[in-house]
Amino acid sequence: MSAADLPLREELRGIQPYGAPQLDVAVRLNVNENPYPPPAEVVSGAATAVADTVSGLNRYPDRDARELRGDLAGYLAQESGVPLSTDQIWAANGSNEVILQLLQAFGGPGRTALSFAPTYSMYPEYARDTATVWQTAPRTEDFGIDRDVALSAVADHHPSVILLASPNNPTGQAVDLAHVVELHDAASDAIVVVDEAYAEFRREGTPSALTLLERCPRLVVTRTMSKAFAFAGARVGYAAASSAIVDALQVVRLPYHLSAVTQAVARVALAHAEQLLGRVRDLRIERDELVSWLRDQGMTVAPSDANFVLFGVFPDRHAVWQGLLDRGVLIRETGPAGYLRASVGTPTEMAAFRAALTEVWR
Ligand code: PMP
Repeated sequence: MSAADLPLREELRGIQPYGAPQLDVAVRLNVNENPYPPPAEVVSGAATAVADTVSGLNRYPDRDARELRGDLAGYLAQESGVPLSTDQIWAANGSNEVILQLLQAFGGPGRTALSFAPTYSMYPEYARDTATVWQTAPRTEDFGIDRDVALSAVADHHPSVILLASPNNPTGQAVDLAHVVELHDAASDAIVVVDEAYAEFRREGTPSALTLLERCPRLVVTRTMSKAFAFAGARVGYAAASSAIVDALQVVRLPYHLSAVTQAVARVALAHAEQLLGRVRDLRIERDELVSWLRDQGMTVAPSDANFVLFGVFPDRHAVWQGLLDRGVLIRETGPAGYLRASVGTPTEMAAFRAALTEVWR
């Protein structure tokens, strides 16, 4: 039987699954991973925690992940100065799963999700998977959000969910919190999701949307351990919101969705937050140096609050991407026409990137 004969939903016919290439090259700067493996203390602590957990794997995990959620609340209070209770935190397998659950709970048939393009390429897929109508309004030329465009998009589309990545992927900048408040107040029937997957990398003086939670009852801030915590392989994402929103997410989650092993190793990493954030500081410095270097080469570079940089503008970006790959450096062909995106790696990886790009672009 061929795929064409399957009783597949019409909107899924011929669709290829998501996937940046996972290629075995020396310098991988294509999916915004943290280039530093977890430190030795996290490795040994997690090994012990896994051994303890495995001895109890005949039982299902804590369905509500309460200890982990308590630790996450403690971490956010420390990182952003915003006190939150366990009931205001939700955790799942990566922030991808959290965002899907938000659309399962607040999107759905006959409802609309609104975002500002270009943005994270997975949002429209989650909208499709939850049968939510997907709408975007354009960003400005420098990839910001225009107040009038945003407010008229809300008036035109009456969204149930507004998705704002901050820092935005693939463009890099954090959203102005004044826009978040305006959108929240204008879209009085909508949940406003600020996706802060890269928040720990934001530039000095950039506030987190967590600071708006008290002011904005329909706001959800999502975060992840995939980037700052160097834990992409563990799959831990989370949200901070009102306890009523967290209760709604509990309704749509699969039973026992977050494995006992995941919960245990995440708690170990959170206990070492301070040390891990030290590496984030190093990566921010490396990021700022990358932005300056690219500008010195005469390129257009979007300001970045994240662990990646969007740069261009290349008449043939695919040729540049391929030229880098031929030299063992994998970056991402994404974003507006002519642009490429590179994640921030170790100093050695960045030297390899600069050397390769100098050759390709000469
Ligand atoms: N949001 C944004 C903007 C992202 O770029 C990513 C991952 N690249 C995610 C969410 C999801 O990350 P994860 O599921 O690993 O938490």
